[in-house]
Amino acid sequence: TGRFIVGGNWKCNGTIASVAELCEGLNAGEIADNVDIVVAPPFLYIDQAVEALDAKRFKVAAQNAWVEYTLQDPTHHYDSDTGAFTGEVSAEMLEDLDVPWVILGHSERRTLLGEDNVTVGKKVAHARYHGLNVIVCVGESLEEREAGKTLEVIFAQLRAVAEEIDDREHSSWGSQVVIAYEPIWAIGTGKVATPEQAQEVHAAIRQWLVDNVSEEVSKATRIQYGGSVNDGNCEDLAKYSDIDGFLVGGASLDAEKFVRICNSSV
Ligand code: 13P
Repeated sequence: TGRFIVGGNWKCNGTIASVAELCEGLNAGEIADNVDIVVAPPFLYIDQAVEALDAKRFKVAAQNAWVEYTLQDPTHHYDSDTGAFTGEVSAEMLEDLDVPWVILGHSERRTLLGEDNVTVGKKVAHARYHGLNVIVCVGESLEEREAGKTLEVIFAQLRAVAEEIDDREHSSWGSQVVIAYEPIWAIGTGKVATPEQAQEVHAAIRQWLVDNVSEEVSKATRIQYGGSVNDGNCEDLAKYSDIDGFLVGGASLDAEKFVRICNSSV
């Protein structure tokens, strides 16, 4: 569905020197123009990456954004997310700096930093309120998969997003929301999902969108696969009809590999 979209999630990696080198390598890559590319440096290097990258081909994303809501009244939304929140970066600031994309609900934030489904849903709705394009990550742990709970877990993650978007004025689910299916057991493990495993979950997500959001949104929503994607396995995955792109971790730090992944749908 839609244009193929490949994201590079640099996670908490980089130095001024390595970011410069990576951006140079990306600019030098020959990439087909039927693919959208989004790279997500750590906050401190976003500006450097924007300056260095060919803006026509590469868009940037933040890896997180703060949202404020009260635990006492979770239905209450603040109009502003700036204020006394030490250490946080707000969606309003990303909008101010013209950062067009944000990755939300990455499993590392869910598991290591305690972001629950509702928090992620609120972050997505709030980012949409500020006009940001969102890559929202969903996915099950190995334990959950082995217990047969994969779809249950993912649907609960999606439901929280849909409900919060519904609740929030000036927030909508359209082609500006990309879903990244990232099974936790495949992230950074070298253990990629088989194309059949990924396609099965992607198709289920697409049907969930038909049943719970709308047919139109289901058609417009791009679903990325993430988890040990590299330049060796990307082509097999890209052949499947519901795999609309990738969210790449480790291999996105290597310009040549990442460029090959960007070209995998051609
Ligand atoms: P790896 O590609 O390193 O497995 O990471 C995937 C990921 O978490 C992308 O967001």
